[in-house]
Amino acid sequence: MFLIFGDPVSHSKSPLMHNYFFKKEKIDECYGRYHLKEGSKIIEKFKELKIKGANVTVPHKEWAFKLCDEVRGIAKEIGAVNTLVKEGDKIIGYNTDAPGFLEAIKEFDYKSVLIIGAGGTAKALSLVLPQADILNRSANRLEYFKQKNKKTFTWDNIDNFKYDLIINTTSAGLNDDNLPAPEEILNKLFSNAKYAVDVIYGKETPFLALAKKYNLKTKTGLDMLVYQGVLAMEYFLGKELKREEVAKIYFEILKD
Ligand code: NDP
Repeated sequence: MFLIFGDPVSHSKSPLMHNYFFKKEKIDECYGRYHLKEGSKIIEKFKELKIKGANVTVPHKEWAFKLCDEVRGIAKEIGAVNTLVKEGDKIIGYNTDAPGFLEAIKEFDYKSVLIIGAGGTAKALSLVLPQADILNRSANRLEYFKQKNKKTFTWDNIDNFKYDLIINTTSAGLNDDNLPAPEEILNKLFSNAKYAVDVIYGKETPFLALAKKYNLKTKTGLDMLVYQGVLAMEYFLGKELKREEVAKIYFEILKD
């Protein structure tokens, strides 16, 4: 038995994705959701429910990081865990969000990257895309990136518009028709870029609609969602999978 912990958790697509995979692959397992209010109880609950593994969503990823027995891989730098796996008596924590993003864009041929936004997702992506510069509407959250010697801009002082890949990690466009930065700035960026990726899924955001006018190759957050799931499944099953084939299965059920 596997499940996802979150608050809220009813919107999560993970049960749909992973149960469909188990069914298709004739694996006798199931994946549920658990509405956990207190993140500090996450490991206690994991043990009590006698599950083999779990995903962790907002707002419990930091609790999972702090409380699991051992953190492995990039999760150590990110400071957040989205996948927990039982290994003997221990519960091991991993992060597959940012590596899932990289896997989703692996066919892209890019050198320079601009990340728009400076929240949790931007931090995680900047660790797997160390060459990335950061653009945010306000200066406050840029401090973290400055301390890591990253090049940062606000809308007022951006002076470089030449990037191959532009990533929107803000929530602009999620529940509104906003662009993540003024249109003049995006027009300049898109006229030099090759690729635009949004981490939002379930809709085409104004950001991606504008990128398409410049004939850029685009991807939505669905790809990131799918590949974080594929990588989590590798940890759950304790083996490498044929990632493209598994991703196809997940896309099949999510696109319905
Ligand atoms: P945070 O709240 O940590 O950060 C939000 C960032 O967006 C801040 O930098 C904020 O700027 C900026 N922002 C918010 N609204 C606007 C706006 N209207 N215009 C410009 N900038 C704006 O969010 P997260 O990093 O946790 O999540 C961001 C998005 O990523 C969400 O939409 C979430 O759904 C998505 N996501 C998708 C995943 C997937 O698998 N596809 C996985 C994880 C997240 P400021 O600092 O000025 O406030």
